[in-house]
Amino acid sequence: MTRSAVIVPGATIGVLGSGQLGRMLAIAAREMGYRIRTLSPDQDSPTGQIADDEVVASYDDLDAVRAFAKQVDVVTFEFENVPSATADAAAEHAHVRPDGHILHVTQQRAREKSFLARHGFPVTPFADVRTKADLATAVDRFASNAILKTASFGYDGKGQYRVRSHEEADTAWAAMSEQDAILEQFIPFEREVSMIGARGAAGWSVAFGLIENVHRNHILDTSVYPARVDPALEQRAAEIVRELCETFALVGVLCVEFFVTSSGDLLINELAPRPHNSGHLTIDACVTSQFEQHVRAICGLPAGAMDLLRPAAMANLLGDVWEDGEPDWSAACAVPGVRLHLYGKAEPRKARKMGHLTALASTPALALENVLRSRDQLQHK
Ligand code: AMP
Repeated sequence: MTRSAVIVPGATIGVLGSGQLGRMLAIAAREMGYRIRTLSPDQDSPTGQIADDEVVASYDDLDAVRAFAKQVDVVTFEFENVPSATADAAAEHAHVRPDGHILHVTQQRAREKSFLARHGFPVTPFADVRTKADLATAVDRFASNAILKTASFGYDGKGQYRVRSHEEADTAWAAMSEQDAILEQFIPFEREVSMIGARGAAGWSVAFGLIENVHRNHILDTSVYPARVDPALEQRAAEIVRELCETFALVGVLCVEFFVTSSGDLLINELAPRPHNSGHLTIDACVTSQFEQHVRAICGLPAGAMDLLRPAAMANLLGDVWEDGEPDWSAACAVPGVRLHLYGKAEPRKARKMGHLTALASTPALALENVLRSRDQLQHK
């Protein structure tokens, strides 16, 4: 990339989607002197509150998308379920990074898993389910130990059903209105880890270390960095992540979520071609956060150093924390090394991601202990 192709600070980054990922991306971009415009159907959104300008329009309103793209220097996503036609319309007037291809692959589970298998990446065994007969065959194939997932628009455990028998499979299939799905083998994993890679328009590619994750009700609950794993496992994950960045000719960041099996193998569970919840702790723990790395990647700047400043742990704050009234923020913030991140969402609905806490400490174990203690304090008045 030539120097003139660098999108320099002062230019405007357009973000399709307006949730917390866009918000933290916007904060990082503004720190570096960029301007931010966001487009989504929502008003007073987490990203809109930080942006210079918030455009409220449907992703299907392609005229609005074109007008939006004309006013920015580069378009990116904070939400991978933006329709392909939206990305194509934006690309008529601005760089779109990452390009629409990776969105197309990752916004449908069957397409994503087939892509990974076809390119030789280790992936959880799965079967396409379009009919009740497909479902019955797949349940037998996985010996009635599986998870049924909607093929499209699934995130945070939405549209997932544990299947232990043909009866459970039929009930789950009916509950999801018989839409296209995949049946996935249930993996009795030893642990879950993720790794965030990045590839820049300037040609570099890098990866953070492994992050250790715990999910509750299929939603990320805590992350710890660095992961307490064998360095050889981290090395293998880094090779996979870098190879994926190259395979997609990615420009931006990509999170790869893995299961670690009892035999120490890595299986890819899911890809997210954007900053990821498990990487939020990089804001506080690393020289360069996943959000700044995304900005650097899409603007053609060099990669930022990813050195760890201190071990860290993150705990998500779901709407459930508000169940007994206003949480006790003072008590939570009094725990040593804890930082509070709230996303500016007005309504604390159950299971809705409202914010997170990050704790920095001398060891990953102590960081986890402190972040959990801090979160506990929120509801103990
Ligand atoms: P997903 O939305 O597919 O990332 O799933 C969310 C969480 O559900 C994962 O992080 C796991 O904790 C759990 N899960 C999903 N698929 C499987 C599987 N095949 N075997 C075991 N647990 C799973």
